[in-house]
Amino acid sequence: MATATPKADKEDPTTWTKYTSGSCNTCRATCCSMPIEIRWEDLVKLNFVTDDDLGKPLKTVVSRLKKENVITAYRPESGLFAFKQTSAGKCRYLKGNRCGIYKTRPLVCREFPIRMGWRHGYCPKTPIK
Ligand code: SF4
Repeated sequence: MATATPKADKEDPTTWTKYTSGSCNTCRATCCSMPIEIRWEDLVKLNFVTDDDLGKPLKTVVSRLKKENVITAYRPESGLFAFKQTSAGKCRYLKGNRCGIYKTRPLVCREFPIRMGWRHGYCPKTPIK
């Protein structure tokens, strides 16, 4: 008799499972529907800001990025930008269960869940049925 896999709640790290190198291959990319905060360097890499923007007041750039639906907020305490999700609550770059910009994905996506995230070494894996 098969044992039912407990359902991971992305909001509750105590329900997460141990991450392994193959975890993503059979997951619905639950982590890509979690809110992410990205750096200025990530915005540059993704072509949302340019070197010219560095010479402008941060408030002006933040305001433009909000208007263009790129971010929802800027967090001065960390210097990070809250990346805007789609209306379905997912990352704009998620294609099926895969990242559509894997090679240029933001730092937080590269480091999760080993060095970044609420519970290092664990993730909210939801197996593909
Ligand atoms: S950039 Fe890629 S890895 Fe990061 S949340 Fe979006 S789809 Fe997922």
